[in-house]
Amino acid sequence: MAMLAEAKPIISSLNLVKVGKVNKNLPMELYSGVYKGKVVNLLLNGKCSTHGVDHIGTQAATLGAHLGIEKFSPNMVINAGTAGGFLHDGASVGDVYLSHPIVCFHDRRINLPNFKEYGIGNYPCYPSTNLAKELGLKLGVVSTGNSLDFNTFDKNLMKSYNGVVKDMEAAAIAWVAQLYSTPFIAIKAITDIVDGDIPTEEEFLLNLSEASKKLGEKTLELLAII
Ligand code: SAH
Repeated sequence: MAMLAEAKPIISSLNLVKVGKVNKNLPMELYSGVYKGKVVNLLLNGKCSTHGVDHIGTQAATLGAHLGIEKFSPNMVINAGTAGGFLHDGASVGDVYLSHPIVCFHDRRINLPNFKEYGIGNYPCYPSTNLAKELGLKLGVVSTGNSLDFNTFDKNLMKSYNGVVKDMEAAAIAWVAQLYSTPFIAIKAITDIVDGDIPTEEEFLLNLSEASKKLGEKTLELLAII
């Protein structure tokens, strides 16, 4: 997970214990526990010591995913977080999506043969149609980039693969999970409507706490049935 605010409801409802850093040089912080007989290792990306904010975005996500997978060899990697949704997909704030069937990058534009597809990534997700039905969740392609806002190029690329959940981490983590042949799934609660009228940063901060609560509830339900 990227942000402490997103993780708090999960940490408290699962009674996860803060273990601390996994590698003294890296900012990631580990919280651990057992839920319904399953070991849960929640790796949070930690805070930037220079700017004092959570390490959001793809660099920390890649590093954290590698650290966690190498250390724990998990049966599954779950990227739980918040995201932007789209009116054209019928999204409302508080909706929760499972990634399906792929996650992609919308800001790696490389207009060269084969590199174009490489940039987009198209990383596979654990088949989650039945999980979504059982848990009452939406399904959609999660689209990752390193900006909270977007430009016309991002928008067109997202449209080309029907990206309907906009975040800043999922595809980066999915890539590492693919390298390790570990099943990957993203669960994302909507904090803001990308094609709506309210500026994203305003809407995000307004809804972060409520959406994180919803994310926590649904992540617990997901952990219970996988
Ligand atoms: N100013 C905020 C920064 C949050 S950035 C703060 O520190 O409180 C947004 C985070 O939420 C990222 O981790 C990203 O994955 C997710 N997110 C939520 N809405 C998003 C959107 N519309 N676009 C991209 N990422 C979004």
